[in-house]
Amino acid sequence: MSKIRVMDELLANKIAAGEVVEKCASVLKELVENAIDAEGNIIKINLEDGGLSKIEVIDNGIGMDEEDAKLAFLRHATSKIYKDDDLFFIETLGFRGEALASIASVAEVFMHTSQGEVGTCVHIKGGKLLEVSKDQAKKGTSITVTNLFYNTPARLKYLKSEITELNNCVSFLEKLALANPDIAFTLSNNEKVIVKTSGSGNLLKVIHEIYGLNVSSNMLEIKNSNDDFVISGFVSKPSILKKNRNHFHTFVNNRVVRNVEINRSINDAYDTYKHEGFYPIVVINIETDPTLVDVNIHPTKQDIKMSKMEDLTKLIYETIKDVLYKNLLIPSAIYEEEKNDIKDNFIDPRSLYHYEDSPKAKVLPPDDLPDAPIIQTRLDLNASVGDVKIIKNEEFKKLKFTPVGQVHGTYIIAENEDGMFIFDQHAVHERINYEMVTKKIQEQQVNIIPLLIPINIELNNSDYLALMENKSVLEELGFKIEDFGINTIIIKEHPSWLKEGFEEENIRSIIDLVISSAKGFNKDKFLDSMAKMVSCKMSVKANEHLSMEQMKKLLDDLVKCDNPYNCCHGRPSIMKYTNYELEKMFKRVM
Ligand code: ZN
Ligand code: ZN
Repeated sequence: MSKIRVMDELLANKIAAGEVVEKCASVLKELVENAIDAEGNIIKINLEDGGLSKIEVIDNGIGMDEEDAKLAFLRHATSKIYKDDDLFFIETLGFRGEALASIASVAEVFMHTSQGEVGTCVHIKGGKLLEVSKDQAKKGTSITVTNLFYNTPARLKYLKSEITELNNCVSFLEKLALANPDIAFTLSNNEKVIVKTSGSGNLLKVIHEIYGLNVSSNMLEIKNSNDDFVISGFVSKPSILKKNRNHFHTFVNNRVVRNVEINRSINDAYDTYKHEGFYPIVVINIETDPTLVDVNIHPTKQDIKMSKMEDLTKLIYETIKDVLYKNLLIPSAIYEEEKNDIKDNFIDPRSLYHYEDSPKAKVLPPDDLPDAPIIQTRLDLNASVGDVKIIKNEEFKKLKFTPVGQVHGTYIIAENEDGMFIFDQHAVHERINYEMVTKKIQEQQVNIIPLLIPINIELNNSDYLALMENKSVLEELGFKIEDFGINTIIIKEHPSWLKEGFEEENIRSIIDLVISSAKGFNKDKFLDSMAKMVSCKMSVKANEHLSMEQMKKLLDDLVKCDNPYNCCHGRPSIMKYTNYELEKMFKRVM
């Protein structure tokens, strides 16, 4: 090879490095994925200073012979460490070969590898092979990367603070651990263990090892399939929510992937079960024929495209919605409180991660990182999951609540044989109205009521046009709208589900909503937003006195709802104190 060609290759590697290896986590990703492909089932990652000083990955996989070891860091290298029946093999093979070469071009790398007999040690720095020697014969591979970007002037451009790099590494490793429950992962930083999974093959156990007992005991299992996809995994009850989508863990054939449409379908499935801006913890593996996955993707980004995406997102949406519907979701007041106390005193290392959608990651010196919360070895998984009493939704519909009184004109206190309940009266009423209105809209059989005094609405030109464009949607609902001079409409009839006394207010808001959603108008979305808005407006407010009869009626109507646990915006409507919790609070039992 001529000198010029070597220079070219080095330059190409360095340029590629800027794209491929932009942070410690991308080095970690390459090395750990190689270790997984090498069929290791125990993988250890040792970081120093969040990976800035050192990234070391040790596996007990099949290892390489001397020939492969030398080739591993060459561009376009092919090697036995890649599984050739793998779905991502085709598109990542060349790329991953390049990724290793890229890493080696901007760092110092030591690799020890052995297939069990004689071992090989490779030392490479700045893309130059410095030494190949015989080494000890312990089966597996260990790769150590130090001095990352030492020869790149823009080093600082790529690497962030130690805590950010560490957070990214931990965050990604957790995804890999969830995608590979049968591999035992350990990640430590400066000799402090941060992530440790046992490789038991039990996904719920991995969830426990990563998120702790409170989360693992509040997960619901999902499993479903259609002609092309089999999905399985766990989703958190809406009582367990995070402030960003980083806890949507999605895998295709056990590879970590990311896809906006899949994320949206997960989020939509939780609609009205949770607050906007909060997200559940979701772990889903999608098994499918590799040919359905688009190969034109950038492997470092994890983004995928897929044919039949609509079928897949529908399957995910319906499966999650169904499992949420079928399970009792009344949060226990006591339990919430304890959980929050723990949260306040406990610095969850995950809360420090740098997330795309939370630009200001909390910064703490790394020494303050607590030991992983996962070392709760007293876990008996079956017991902990069994302890959580899951009542089917159908059973809930048979429950009876007897109101006892009202607090601050806002909360209803009620009782039954199981304990004491607190209801948010607005949330309760809003839920009842939302399901009523939604049903009426779906039935499409509308009763129309004429207005005694028709409502005149004057609009500006663009609003008028926007309204006229979607006028038919309102007419289908049962509104009678007529033109009345320049940019003025007159409403003469409305559907019967508008509450008496609130007609005008509601109609004006609905018109506003049509106008504001006119851009890229989506009928289903509009109808849902409208149902939510109208239900909110026609519901009892806080600071509104209710009689015992009114309270009784609200609670009787609530139990008939499909999702009695939240208002249509996802706020909780019920809190429960079980008899046992009450007795415990007052030390009647110890
Ligand atoms: Zn409301
Ligand atoms: Zn609400």
